[in-house]
Amino acid sequence: MNLDEELNFNRISVQTITDTLFESSGIHVDVLRLDQLHPVVSGNKWFKLKYYLQYAIANNKKTVATFGGAFSNHIIATAYACNKLQLNCTGFIRGETPKQYSQTLLDVTALNMQLEFLNREAYKNKQAVIDAHPQTFFIPEGGFGMEGAEGAAEIIQLVPNLSKYNYIICAVGTGTMLAGIANASLPHQQCIGVSVMKNNFSLNAAVDSLLNVAKDKTRIDILHDYHFGGYAKCTTELITFMNRVGKEHGLPLDFVYTAKAFYAVCHLSEKKYFPEGANLLFIHSGGLQGNRSLSL
Ligand SMILES: *Cc1c(COP(=O)(O)O)cnc(C)c1O
Repeated sequence: MNLDEELNFNRISVQTITDTLFESSGIHVDVLRLDQLHPVVSGNKWFKLKYYLQYAIANNKKTVATFGGAFSNHIIATAYACNKLQLNCTGFIRGETPKQYSQTLLDVTALNMQLEFLNREAYKNKQAVIDAHPQTFFIPEGGFGMEGAEGAAEIIQLVPNLSKYNYIICAVGTGTMLAGIANASLPHQQCIGVSVMKNNFSLNAAVDSLLNVAKDKTRIDILHDYHFGGYAKCTTELITFMNRVGKEHGLPLDFVYTAKAFYAVCHLSEKKYFPEGANLLFIHSGGLQGNRSLSL
């Protein structure tokens, strides 16, 4: 697809984080900087969208639609990609029409995405929306599904010396990325997903549904203790942590996903969760545009 040329796969680096905390635990932490892929279609979103969009183009679909919140990384990535690929697109946004658009919504409007606002009830009943638009190709919210997982599997194929890592850690929303990573991981690797939602225990089954049949489910752990109040919620502790990591390590994080997941890495390291000598790969899944919803 002609967007591939614009995406900077060569810019994605692996950054080693040197920190006394990790040194004292005897672990090595590398970060896969997917945030460097593209300023708008950043992080994991391109990977999750790719096969859906390929399908839409191959099947001559003229209009693509998807669902998301007013600050959604998935919505902005979809808007950008559809704009480049000359597909019409509609974003069904959770919530009543706002008096003032978020910066994300202003950006997607400028990218020609049509917006439709759905109140809480309507948003829950997505199938009714899908049924009302038979000509439109719908991408599930967050790219959840086999196509999304298939694209996400390609994330760790970007990593040089992948086999040297025994833990791969990432933030989890829908679980699509975690499933894709697990599918592409090697038999000696443990995949840890840090859920950014509160008590979202249905995730385990959702991730399982996207796993390759032969995969060993015992190599996947989903942690539910690092949500900091729930989806898109945060505490001053989290923001202080995020700003410190940005300053000390030159690692910019977002408060919705990657800061929570990286906090988990630090906390687990402190608790000696990882055996000495462990090699960790942390997936920086992007999403930095979401920080614009913070009034820092
Ligand atoms: C969407 C997103 C995730 C979550 O990915 P899922 O596949 O839905 O679990 C993680 N990190 C960032 C930065 C995201 O934008």
